[in-house]
Amino acid sequence: MKKQEPKNYEISKSEAEWKEQLDAQSFHVLREKGTERPFSGQYYLNKETGIYDCKACGNPIFHSSKKYDSGCGWPSFTEPVNPEAIDVKMDYSHFMVREEILCGKCGGHLGHRFPDGPKDQGGIRYCINSLSMDFKGGTED
Ligand SMILES: [Zn+2]
Repeated sequence: MKKQEPKNYEISKSEAEWKEQLDAQSFHVLREKGTERPFSGQYYLNKETGIYDCKACGNPIFHSSKKYDSGCGWPSFTEPVNPEAIDVKMDYSHFMVREEILCGKCGGHLGHRFPDGPKDQGGIRYCINSLSMDFKGGTED
């Protein structure tokens, strides 16, 4: 297994600082790599037009135009707003090999991506916790 170098993120805070800034549930997901219960997230069924920012640092990560209904129970997207918006790491936890998606700016845990997205849109599913994001409606692009 290749060792992964810890990445230096543009926004770096101590866990105590994050804890103070974030609500308990979001802290658990973003900093402790938790997962919200499926079908429970506030953005799972959100169909409004706008931008989803990282809840920890405000980095824009997904646009509603790339959101689709995957039926998996979490907000699902076909791609981020740009490749730099996110960071991808191999995740070997829970006896699975998955690709973890982190915020490209602060390293907060957002979710995972899987190769079962819509075939005509790249075939990738970004499966993201609502608790990791802040939705800003009304943005056209
Ligand atoms: Zn962030």
